[in-house]
Amino acid sequence: MILFLVVAFILVLGMYSYRSSTSKKSKRIPKDLHNLLLANVLFYEKLKTESQRKLFRERVYTFLKETYIEAVGFNLEDIDIVLVAASAVIPVFYFKDWTYSNLATVLLYPDYFNKELNYTEGARNIGGLVGTGRFNDQVILSRKALHHGFSNKTDKSNTGIHEFVHLIDMLDGDTDGIPSVLLSNTYLIPWLDLIHKGMEAINNDQSDIRAYGGTNQQEFFAVAAEYFFERPELLKVKHPDLYKMMELCFLGKK
Ligand SMILES: [Zn+2]
Repeated sequence: MILFLVVAFILVLGMYSYRSSTSKKSKRIPKDLHNLLLANVLFYEKLKTESQRKLFRERVYTFLKETYIEAVGFNLEDIDIVLVAASAVIPVFYFKDWTYSNLATVLLYPDYFNKELNYTEGARNIGGLVGTGRFNDQVILSRKALHHGFSNKTDKSNTGIHEFVHLIDMLDGDTDGIPSVLLSNTYLIPWLDLIHKGMEAINNDQSDIRAYGGTNQQEFFAVAAEYFFERPELLKVKHPDLYKMMELCFLGKK
């Protein structure tokens, strides 16, 4: 019996050290959070009061305590962690006590990847996706796309935010562009109307909303959310009704 226990212990120890030597999973929290956020995340820079910024940092801490970040093929830097957390916090910043109950790990690849998750060769144009099947409870992001989303502040595009908006959309069981956790049923008809008119304008080449939003309802919602968080003033001028709906969703303004 004792021998069995000793053998079992050695086996468990062996498995543990094997995992920790091959896995690059991290729950590290960067030390200089304020300065990293200030220098790289416009949403944080634009928060007007120190108490709002403190709240944002607390949300980042909470997210990082709950979520593994795993780098594949490169060494994770503090800035990578900060940008992943900012992508997660921005869409739900105005919601108290938010947790992503459908997320365990964010997997970071160094570059754009393809459907087979190859990030080194061939045609690769995927910057991010919400995992399904064996990748359930995971978001997969290209590090390059993630950084590009935050460094280009005028293109109304942000891959990190886009994928987390899909996760929010998914929380009611359907990824359909109708985020029932954010929007009450009262707004269903006007929201669907806005989606369909918006998609039609995109597909007729009569919109400044990113073309990918014309793909389907869920992509329209995610792309509109990127626009809302990246260029809110412009969205308000160009698409006032859509802006109001995004306010309802993400600012909880009724
Ligand atoms: Zn998408």
